[in-house]
Amino acid sequence: MPIIGILKESEGENRVAALPEITAQLVKMGFDVMVENGAGESAFASDEDYKSQGAKTADKDAVLSSSDVVLKINSFTKDQISKLKSGTVVLAILQPFFNTEIVYHLLDRNITGFSLETIPRTTRAQSMDVLSSQATVAGYKAVLLAASNLPKFFPMFMTAAGSITPAKVLILGAGVAGLQAISTARRLGGVVEAFDTRSAVKEEVQSLGAKFVEVEGAKDEASAGGYAVEQAEEFKQKQRQVIHDHAVKSNVIITTAQIPGRKAPVLITKETVAAMKNGSVIVDLAASTGGNCELTKNNETVISGGVKIIGNSNLPSTVPFDASKMFGKNVLNFLKLFLNEGKINLNFEDDLVKGTCITHNKEIVNQKLKELISGNQK
Ligand code: NAD
Repeated sequence: MPIIGILKESEGENRVAALPEITAQLVKMGFDVMVENGAGESAFASDEDYKSQGAKTADKDAVLSSSDVVLKINSFTKDQISKLKSGTVVLAILQPFFNTEIVYHLLDRNITGFSLETIPRTTRAQSMDVLSSQATVAGYKAVLLAASNLPKFFPMFMTAAGSITPAKVLILGAGVAGLQAISTARRLGGVVEAFDTRSAVKEEVQSLGAKFVEVEGAKDEASAGGYAVEQAEEFKQKQRQVIHDHAVKSNVIITTAQIPGRKAPVLITKETVAAMKNGSVIVDLAASTGGNCELTKNNETVISGGVKIIGNSNLPSTVPFDASKMFGKNVLNFLKLFLNEGKINLNFEDDLVKGTCITHNKEIVNQKLKELISGNQK
């Protein structure tokens, strides 16, 4: 029977790719499941919990060398790949566009690599989209982090000790994380405004009870598949001014603006930070791709002129139980595309299988990656 392996993440990552409830489903689908000792510990799933759902536990090397399919959240090391059997299928957020080395290691060992963050963003793929589920967690946690760092309340209070005005919250980027941040900030009683270059999100923003900040003249291309595109310089300047005017009135700013494959746009300059209220908090969810605030430092908290700028780029790891639960469900839904009745059947006619696969049979499957790597070699 094919073995599905679940690896422990490296130090500092609390999530696990599949909780015991997913193990149970894989066993029901006719597979053996082997979990690395302690893999779920930081997500509050013990080895005993996995065993009670039909899995075996083993050390890392045994999982790597025996599994036919290996699940992980973050990418693999060269050493881990070198221990896999030829032909093994691996699934993780491999980030091959930022880490081309991984592609060579996979090719070298004849590993079929699925890079979960590259799944096409179609309606059928929604239940398999790890970027969306983890962005939901990040958007929620960003607001809680801001609230606990803010020297004032989020909600309005009318008390015998006087009236408290509600926190003003500005959300930049109303994608999956931004929309979740709006909902969470509203639930906490904040007064919320949001800005995005895609005018299509205006109604969604308003339906969540936030005001949509508009800057006219944004390029919003249908060909970008719902994603944002790089904007013209004139628009960027207009946008900076509008954001500046709203930022200086805000107590909290959550920034989530990203452009796939590019550095994140700078939306908050150091001049804007200098003009913000003392005690304000910025949580920058784009920190790992350069940040939306000019002063953001990835995985650090910077204080500038009394404004706290939090650049924690792995917030999903701080909600490890539910983030793992959602990640595992996404992975299970994806696995169902090619795991059936105890057999592995990769069907490259399926756009989701093909669109997520980066290497197979010692060849690069993803066309954009092929172009990037052949360009690098020239
Ligand atoms: P993302 O993380 O790539 O970007 C976050 C947001 O930042 C986006 O809304 C983007 O428009 C915005 N942004 C980029 N540059 C900006 C700028 N200069 N100023 C202000 N905002 C800026 O986006 P995402 O959350 O991953 O989602 C992007 C799109 O994909 C959305 O339309 C979403 O609904 C869609 N989506 C579809 C599926 C699916 O169908 N399977 C799944 C997830 C998301």
